[in-house]
Amino acid sequence: MVTYTTDKLKQALKHFFGYDDFRLDQLSVIQNVLAGTDVMGIMPTGGGKSICYQLPAMLLPGITIVVSPLIALMKDQVDSLLANGIHAAFLNSSQSADEQREVIMQAQAGNVKLLYIAPERIPANSSAFIDFLRRLNPSLFAVDEAHCISSWGHDFRPEYLKLAILKQCFPTTPVIALTASADKLTQDDIIKKLDIPSAKVFISSFNRPNIYYYIRPKQNTMARIAEYIMKHRNDCGIIYTLSRASTEDIAGKLHVMGIKAAYYHAGIDANERSRVQEAFQKDEVKVIVATIAFGMGIDKSNVRFVIHYDVPKNIEGYYQETGRAGRDGLKSDAILFYSRGDIMKLKGFATVEGNAEQTVISMNKLKKMEQFCESDTCRRQYLMQYFGEPFPAYCGSCDYCMSSLEERDATVDAQKFLSAVVRTGERYGVGYIIDILRGSSAEKIQPAHKELKTYGIGKDLKREEWEWLARQMLNNGFIERSNDQYAALILNDKSKAILKGESKLMLVMQKEQKLSVMEEEEF
Ligand code: ADP
Ligand code: ZN
Repeated sequence: MVTYTTDKLKQALKHFFGYDDFRLDQLSVIQNVLAGTDVMGIMPTGGGKSICYQLPAMLLPGITIVVSPLIALMKDQVDSLLANGIHAAFLNSSQSADEQREVIMQAQAGNVKLLYIAPERIPANSSAFIDFLRRLNPSLFAVDEAHCISSWGHDFRPEYLKLAILKQCFPTTPVIALTASADKLTQDDIIKKLDIPSAKVFISSFNRPNIYYYIRPKQNTMARIAEYIMKHRNDCGIIYTLSRASTEDIAGKLHVMGIKAAYYHAGIDANERSRVQEAFQKDEVKVIVATIAFGMGIDKSNVRFVIHYDVPKNIEGYYQETGRAGRDGLKSDAILFYSRGDIMKLKGFATVEGNAEQTVISMNKLKKMEQFCESDTCRRQYLMQYFGEPFPAYCGSCDYCMSSLEERDATVDAQKFLSAVVRTGERYGVGYIIDILRGSSAEKIQPAHKELKTYGIGKDLKREEWEWLARQMLNNGFIERSNDQYAALILNDKSKAILKGESKLMLVMQKEQKLSVMEEEEF
């Protein structure tokens, strides 16, 4: 078997697809596939799943079979592969019988590297399907949108169940299953249905932990940007605006302030554009003020901030643009200036005359952008969930989390609570335990319990605070209820670890006092 070093694979990526580097888990996934291992790759939409089988297809001998339900996209994918000089073809119900026969002939003659098949084109009769595959003798099976095989998924396709025979009939041919659906039940089901129990699972995240997200009202915007940039004089950054005129205007103002700024938009000539780009790359220009035309080709690792002077028209664009910050992994800022006026303006642009369908799509995306700016939640959680990735309600590194929430170490309180549960024999509910902690003199308290060391040790917290803590512990599995009719609080392994001091209980809560005046001026 040929082994491929990382460098070799990077060269191949560049050679076949023109990309400089792998993204997310692409490299590991590809290395495993090439070593003959079954793989399940979970990557967010737009993460780059296709490369995970397209590059192996180019490096393996023979043909790769790609099963994909997205007929509408199949032709585009195949066309763009063909444009890259890669022999790809597809079989789906949009083709005539003659066209399909021609594709099958070409594939059997060894003239196709990647053959996309829609599930409804898989022969109904499994022996016909196997014969067809045997004649092609594939090197790799790629199952795209693999959640379609699972009735747990949101898009079950019964035809996908026919894929179960791949592993039985071709035990040594690797299978790569790809999906953006990260839920665990679906993942397990995919592995079971495809019969690939030893598949290596890769779950990629879209999260960029070193980028701090801020959303600010669009007021005195130029002054605030100027102030920010003066404070970060040595840093490089990008300011995005929606109009060409404002890129020139803002760059001019920064220039007057002595900042090495330049503007960039599709209206300036190609030579000037590449000159600006190069100057930025070399740190000769510190700040680029640009329309979204800027960024496609740039590969600059030390962009410390990305500022959106105008609201972007959708989350995808916003995330891609902010993603140009902090490629070196160092702390970077993404600052967005928000106004309803911008949303109104964007609504005007979103209306595509004579294309109702496109208008609805654009409007919905804009709605999400508006929600993102207006919602009272962790910015990062909103973004991750938008891309289908579950994320906790607290990131600690966005303006919402930093100004409204704080994480507190509640281990000592949890230990008090748990030890009251243990000492009363794991036979009581939340109310009684709180009575013990707060030293209640109520009649229902057993006399023996008034002698306990824990009796009255929790007077420092209010009843509601203890109730809140108990609820958090139950919700997060740090304590449980018995299964009998009493539903008494009982300990589990997590509670024991807390009691022994082996693990901590960190809880996120609203800050009691918002430092709003101070925070407003700080980025
Ligand atoms: P998915 O199927 O995960 O939604 P795609 O495979 O369609 O995503 O890729 C999304 C986009 O990312 C495509 O435009 C693709 O060309 C691009 N892309 C994929 N891998 C890379 C890479 N390593 N470097 C740059 N761009 C990439
Ligand atoms: Zn956050």
